[in-house]
Amino acid sequence: SPMIVSFGEMLIDFVPDVAGVSLAESYAFIKAPGGAPANVACAIAKLGGNAAFIGKVGDDEFGHMLANLLKKSGVNSDGICFDKDARTALAFVTLKADGQREFMFYRSPSADMLLKESELKLDLIKQAKIFHYGSISLISEPCKSAHMAAMKAAKQAGVLLSYDPNVRLPLWPSPEAARDGIKSIWDQADFVKVSDDEVEFLTKGDPKKDDVVMSLWNDNFKLLIVTDGPEGCRYFTKKFKGKVNGYKVKTIDTTGAGDAFVGAFLQAVAKDPNLFNDENKLKEALVFANACGAISTTQKGAIPSLPDKAQAENLIKEAK
Ligand code: ATP
Repeated sequence: SPMIVSFGEMLIDFVPDVAGVSLAESYAFIKAPGGAPANVACAIAKLGGNAAFIGKVGDDEFGHMLANLLKKSGVNSDGICFDKDARTALAFVTLKADGQREFMFYRSPSADMLLKESELKLDLIKQAKIFHYGSISLISEPCKSAHMAAMKAAKQAGVLLSYDPNVRLPLWPSPEAARDGIKSIWDQADFVKVSDDEVEFLTKGDPKKDDVVMSLWNDNFKLLIVTDGPEGCRYFTKKFKGKVNGYKVKTIDTTGAGDAFVGAFLQAVAKDPNLFNDENKLKEALVFANACGAISTTQKGAIPSLPDKAQAENLIKEAK
């Protein structure tokens, strides 16, 4: 049975065929499978891990295409539901010339938002070692209740909880609602991964300062990680903290780098849950996660660019 179950949205990103243009200026869009939790499941499978995805898509061509892609990638798809009425979610995404990402979502509502508690395959979750989720599934009902029920079942079964908030402001009614919603489940997690930008958004402080990051600490956490693109990441536990440098690569598209990073790290945790207590083992896992994040930026799209184990090990060896 799957060791890591990833829960949440799976959707289609439409990305301009050329980089650095606004959505309005773009002439043609490329169809790219996405949704952070789905990307994470694929990242784990690509590394040879045992992952499942739970979520809902439309009973339409895009929904079946996504479910088939996950299956083909080696992800357990027993927890995927198909909505008869609502469409698979769409997002138009562009990286503008100034480096800022611009999102436009089609969710009115989309199928992912309609996952119901009664549709959850709780057995998948209870048998897992790690249950991973984001915050987009918290934005509206009935998915929010399904998310809460899934977390509760995982916790009761002694499954480790992993949270990557992935802040997407346009989806929330207001920035305050986003902050409150994201923080509402903060204390449940064993492991939280945020980016520098997310630390800034959540704390309104300087993410480079350790005490600002530590204001996000909760005593239930085993580990808090802050990623910072090419810089790599910083880690914080009760006993130790530090930094692990990133890798220099020829970056083309950073979409999904965080998901490749999280998938790689969770795969390491699934193999050795004691890694949180041993700083050297933790650093080794983060070196691997940084390498996977870096490689994922060297090709377009989140899923096609996910590395296998040998690719990541090669990058680590070459950089030594
Ligand atoms: P996203 O939302 O795009 O999935 P994120 O903002 O959650 O990503 P990042 O901090 O951008 O996360 O990236 C996660 C990890 O991926 C970094 O810690 C780093 O190891 C690697 N990475 C990201 N961008 C680059 C890059 N340009 N060059 C090398 N490594 C990178």
